[in-house]
This record gives sequence, structure tokens and C-alpha cells, in this order.
Amino acid sequence: MRYDRLALALAAAMSLTCFAPVCALAQGPGDALMQAEEAASEAAAQDPDDISLKESANPAVKPVMLYTYDQMVHDIGILQGRYGNRMRVGSFGTSLDGRTLYEITIGNPNAGKHVMIQAGIHGREYMTPLLVMKQLETALEFADTANYKGEPLKDMLEEVQVHFLPMVNPDGVCISQMGFEGLRSYDLRQIMEEGYEKDLEEERTDTTLDKYVLYCKGNGRGVDLNINFPAGWEDITTSPGHASYTGYKGERPASEPETKGLMALANRYHWAATVSYHSQGEVIYWDFPENKVREASKELAEELASISGYTLLESNGKGGFKDWMQVKDDPAPSVTVETGAAECPMPFSQWENVWTKNRSGWAAALYYAFHKG
Ligand SMILES: [Zn+2]
Repeated sequence: MRYDRLALALAAAMSLTCFAPVCALAQGPGDALMQAEEAASEAAAQDPDDISLKESANPAVKPVMLYTYDQMVHDIGILQGRYGNRMRVGSFGTSLDGRTLYEITIGNPNAGKHVMIQAGIHGREYMTPLLVMKQLETALEFADTANYKGEPLKDMLEEVQVHFLPMVNPDGVCISQMGFEGLRSYDLRQIMEEGYEKDLEEERTDTTLDKYVLYCKGNGRGVDLNINFPAGWEDITTSPGHASYTGYKGERPASEPETKGLMALANRYHWAATVSYHSQGEVIYWDFPENKVREASKELAEELASISGYTLLESNGKGGFKDWMQVKDDPAPSVTVETGAAECPMPFSQWENVWTKNRSGWAAALYYAFHKG
């Protein structure tokens, strides 16, 4: 049984060293949870209609460990049936392995301000697509009735459109959840298998293939999309020269269709704020060396920290989507939110923690855009 095998491999995986560039836990995970719960109870004391208190009576998006691309597509269809007049389902491209890159937009279609909430750019961080799909469902269900910090969502959504990109790297999610057989393309499977062999030879890994696939962050040909953007890309010196589970920056900046699609969408609008969900560490990265929107990015980070209790950190690397958004022409206040306090793929026991601290994240970005954007 795949699930038994996965559970065993996961249990083994949890004992290994974290491969993330930074696994900062500047405070205990319990501290952040207490802060998030305090923030929610404070909001409740002031306003029983705060979005942080709203639960779907009959949710379409049901939290599970392996929240798959196919499940997400199915759930988007259900949400469309229920809330079709409130949402616009679009796409910003197609993945290497032929999967649609979804963009779901809510708010007044004529509104001039735009917020982006994106997740799942790293395959093994597939709890973040679930988070963003749950955010989307509560946004749709309570858009007319709930508030954020006393401000009616309805009023804010008159002036701001919120674009949800729940799974930027669906091929990587499929690999981490199902192994290389999760890829439809024989050629891509070959590239990934060769990448694994080279990683073994170069001692970038010493795990069995079963475990190796679980850790895959990259796309269908082993490029880490969040170091594939043209923001300090040339200065990334740790990249292998081949497909890998992590750390391969690609042959050139924006070499990948997922990167290109996201950049084209980013260049289509002037963004008031972008939020990128990752795992793990319970921190918010808000800066970059050439950041053109430094103060604004910090303010956005502070708004998200006020509900999550996460710690603010300045920067964590190069070539990331956030980094590029902060340095490109027409830059946008942007943050990377590292959810969760366990190694990826995070065990399902992290879900309540991740949801509690980040459920209003989209509304926090909306509030920031409405007032400051
Ligand atoms: Zn990540």
C-alpha cells in the first residue's frame, strides 16, 4: 500500500537532517501558537464576525495529509459550483508535465489594486496548497459577512482583487507525494532518475529512492523554482549542474515554464502586496539586498506577524520569487511566510498549527493593500 510505505518513509525521514537553507526557530513553536491564539481571542473579544473565527459549515476543501493536485482541481470545481459568481478561475500557464497552473481571483473585477497569495512552489511543501485552498474557501464563504480587524471584507474587496495561486509547482507536488511515477512524461522521469544517480555520486544524498522523492522541492525536471528567478541568480554558487531534489537553479534565469508563467502574471498588474507560502520555520522573510520596497515589505510582514506570531527575518537567499518582486521594475511589497514547525514533508499533525496561525493571512494582505497599497 502506497500510504503504508509513505508513512514508514516519512517516519524515517523525520529523523534526518533538514536540507532547508535556513530552519530558523527563533522562538519555540508553542510561543507562536499562543500568540496566534491570543490574537484570535482578542479579535473575538472585539468582533464576533472576525474572519479568524469563521469555520465552513460544509467545507469542500477537506484537510488530508496528501492533498493532491487532482483533489485541488476537484475542489476548485466544487467551489465554482457554489460561489461561481464570486470567483474567476484562470491559469498562468502549464507545468512541464502538462498540469494547469491555477489562478483564482476574488473581489471586484474592476478594482485597481491587486494582491497575490501563492503557495506550493516547492514540491515537498504541499501543506501550503491546502492552506491556500482553505483560505480561498473561507474567503468565498464569508466575503459578505466577516471582518478583518473590524474592517468589512466586503468593503476591502470592492477596491482590491485577491489572486490565489494555490499550487505553483504541481509536478513537484506529485513527485513528493507519489514518487517519479507521479510524472506522466517518460522523459521527465528519466531526467529525475539520472539526477538521483548524480546526487548519489556527488554525495548530495545518501538515501534510498523511496525517501529521496519525498524531499523533492524542484519541478518536473528537478529545477528549484524558487532560485530560478532573475534576482541574484548568477551569484548562486551552490547549485549542482543537473536535476536534483533541491538546490538546482536551472540552466538560466527563468528557464522553467512555471517561473515564466508567474513572471508574466506578475508583470500584468501592479501588485499592492504578494505573499509566498513555504514551509518550514515559523518565520517571515521580508527583505533582500537590493529591495526597492523595503519599508513597505516590512509593514506587510508585520501585518502577517500580528496574526501568526511568526518572527521577522530579513533575507534568506537569492533567485526567489519574493526577491525578484522586490527588485524588478514596478516592484511590490512582498514576503515569504515559512509555515509550520516540522521538517518537510510536514506530518499531518502540523495542520492545525499551520491553519490556526495562517488562516487569515490572505485577509491580512488584503487589509494592508486596502490601507497602504
Ligand atoms: Zn519552500
